[in-house]
Amino acid sequence: MSKYIDPRYKDIKPYTPGEQPKAGSLTKLNTNENPYPPSAAVQQAVQGQVSTLHRYPPPAAEELVNALAHQHGIQPENVFVSNGSDEALAFCFQALCPNGAAFADITYGFYPVYSKLYHVNSKIIPLRQDFTLNPEDYTGLAQTLFIANPNAPTGLALSLAQLEDLLQEDRLVIVDEAYVDFGAQSAVQLLDRYKNLMVIGTFSKSHSLAGARLGYAIASQELIEDLNRIKFSFNPYNVNRMTIAAGVAALQDKAYHEQCKNATMEIRRQSLDILHNMGFSCTNSMANFVFASHKNVPAEEIYVKLKQRNVLVRWFAQPRIDNYVRITIGTQSEMNILFSELRGIL
Ligand SMILES: *Cc1c(COP(=O)(O)O)cnc(C)c1O
Repeated sequence: MSKYIDPRYKDIKPYTPGEQPKAGSLTKLNTNENPYPPSAAVQQAVQGQVSTLHRYPPPAAEELVNALAHQHGIQPENVFVSNGSDEALAFCFQALCPNGAAFADITYGFYPVYSKLYHVNSKIIPLRQDFTLNPEDYTGLAQTLFIANPNAPTGLALSLAQLEDLLQEDRLVIVDEAYVDFGAQSAVQLLDRYKNLMVIGTFSKSHSLAGARLGYAIASQELIEDLNRIKFSFNPYNVNRMTIAAGVAALQDKAYHEQCKNATMEIRRQSLDILHNMGFSCTNSMANFVFASHKNVPAEEIYVKLKQRNVLVRWFAQPRIDNYVRITIGTQSEMNILFSELRGIL
């Protein structure tokens, strides 16, 4: 740290991303990326932008906003696009938490980090023993709620009825749907009825574009105006030309999206059976990962030994979940490598 840093940032503990090794012979099941590359159409669309990179991108990214509105059956006024959904979440913490924030004790690790960064008081609400969220625990809270649905790293999803319970009181509810395409129900369909709802989405998981950095928010026109107020005071060109083109092409290529996500859901189903037979218990994950705890072998040991065998999974040294590993659903052959190494370890 330099002596020039503002003391307010001295004790921030930055988010720790999953390891991104230099590729090679590693089986990488640690950061919930899509194991399938972007489709040929997306790759071509990105190529098509290279010759225009001397120009700034369109600041409102109209083409992409329109494509997202069309996809979700809403109006362009209800859509905001961001440099990864993390940026949209950051803007929410910065500008949409006048009464503080509230979120679960076990959830996306960026919520507490942004909360610190933007000096937002946060109330941490413990999940039940089985990691389910009880909407009643949020009764009477005036804070802005951040709900990852499905949740990370547990994979557990709330029903729309449970989300509606949270929306009854007059406070902003931000539903982070990073993993929604792998089997949960999207809250976008509740938008007409709840002005206090914002849904955050990303292209990093089901759309195979983690490296392009593209996310979005869907909400009332007024809330979208609030996000634009922050964006145009910070970085009007937050989504670059290649990423805008990639996003539009990815939304058009519906068949490829379906195919990849169906493959992941099918491999998840098989993987849960195999892990169960090996002595793991797993949560009922609706995401592109499983969250698994072994009856005999501690999770940290599994994580370390898998790493020695060139298989990367995620382990969190955090109370309540430190006997679990989070394993991203890879391709069939990646999962076969995982299972054979796991058999060796167990
Ligand atoms: C992966 C993830 C995100 C996505 O972040 P991007 O910035 O869009 O890559 C957001 N929320 C949760 C809960 C996630 O797991």
